[in-house]
Amino acid sequence: MDRALHVSLWRIAAVLGLALVLGLLLGGLAWWLLAATGGALVYLLWRLRQFGLWLQGHSRRLPNDDAGLWGSLYRGLVLRQRRELQRRRRLLRLLRAFRTTAAALPDATVVLDAAGTILWFNTAATRLLGLSYPHDMGGHFSNLVRSPRVTRWLEGGDWSEPLMDVPAPTDDALRLGLRIIPYAEGQRLLVARDMSKLMQLEQVRRDFVANVSHELRTPLTVVHGYLDLIEPDQSPELEPILVELRSQSRRMTQIVEDLLTLSRLEAQDSLPEERVSMTGVLQTLRREAEALSLGRHAISLDLRTDTDLTGSTKELHSAFSNLVSNAVRYTPAGGSIAIRWELRGAEPVFSVTDTGQGIAPSHLPRITERFYRVSSSRSRDTGGTGLGLSIVKHVLQLHQARLCIESEVGVGSTFSCVFGAERALAAAAEETG
Ligand code: ADP
Repeated sequence: MDRALHVSLWRIAAVLGLALVLGLLLGGLAWWLLAATGGALVYLLWRLRQFGLWLQGHSRRLPNDDAGLWGSLYRGLVLRQRRELQRRRRLLRLLRAFRTTAAALPDATVVLDAAGTILWFNTAATRLLGLSYPHDMGGHFSNLVRSPRVTRWLEGGDWSEPLMDVPAPTDDALRLGLRIIPYAEGQRLLVARDMSKLMQLEQVRRDFVANVSHELRTPLTVVHGYLDLIEPDQSPELEPILVELRSQSRRMTQIVEDLLTLSRLEAQDSLPEERVSMTGVLQTLRREAEALSLGRHAISLDLRTDTDLTGSTKELHSAFSNLVSNAVRYTPAGGSIAIRWELRGAEPVFSVTDTGQGIAPSHLPRITERFYRVSSSRSRDTGGTGLGLSIVKHVLQLHQARLCIESEVGVGSTFSCVFGAERALAAAAEETG
């Protein structure tokens, strides 16, 4: 730049110098100087015109071999242009590579804008979702994949969980799992995966557990019945063995019953929607807790609202009862248990707080899995099956509610069932006369 500036300054000085010499030699210095300035001005305008033509795209080549400021300006621009071109080519290559990869994915991938308009899709989307190129580009996804369930889910805005078991529009036998990943301002990536095999396996698993549990029920009832009939009068040494046999057969019966409950819950999409009279349910829960505790704990019932719930009384009672029973079983004698029913904002919440052994944070993510126990021996000693919290989770899912667990080892735990505000019912008016 400095060199270019010097060259340009030298050129101006040379022209002015020449005008000065000519003016001194031939007379009329002012005219010569004026002519030199005018010439420089015309030259400047000519170069500007050339520059303008190049910018507008009328001229392809720029004379960038000039050693002065114009050449330096042109060379700078050409360099920038070249870099920009290289960058664009790189981006284009990247985009092509991305498209080729996305097109080859076995999962259907659809790019949607905020309004649900299709901006792009891969080949698997044609096979799984029936989208056709270019016909469906720019179309509305909900109009093309006509399923009220999918539309509701798309418009719901909560895509933290995938939408499972969606029949493929191209083939009813195909079962899809849909997932939405919002990735840029108002843009969403919809991924549909063929889950048919997984769903079939899941169904086989469910049927297997349900059938085995069902088949075990009758022989267990027989064993249980005969065990109750045996009187160890002749051989008293059999007494402890009989006690153990009875306790184990009771445990097995309870496991089978819990497995059957879980199978029944899993097979259901929804439960009966009835008024659950919470005051009655809570009084029963308190009586159950007292019967289980046998006076070893201080049990309190804190009714902070008289709101009722919409849902299944039987299943909700079973879920709440599991939480209360856990609180009693995992709290040492002398501890306290508080059963609470309240409104948090507009959301009805049932919670059980105990001053028991608590659960370490590392166990919490898996605590609602079937047969997951923090300590198997403690669970067995207290008559647990390892299925209680799984049942709670399923019942709450069927009520679109969530389970929140706060716990500290050695201090205690609070298990809260948080229901949606739409499930709250104003208390029924007292019946008179
Ligand atoms: P279980 O029949 O073994 O009690 P659950 O599914 O009800 O099975 O509970 C799973 C595990 O969670 C239990 O084994 C226990 O370790 C832990 N747990 C559940 N409730 C409590 C509680 N109130 N306090 C401490 N630990 C608990």
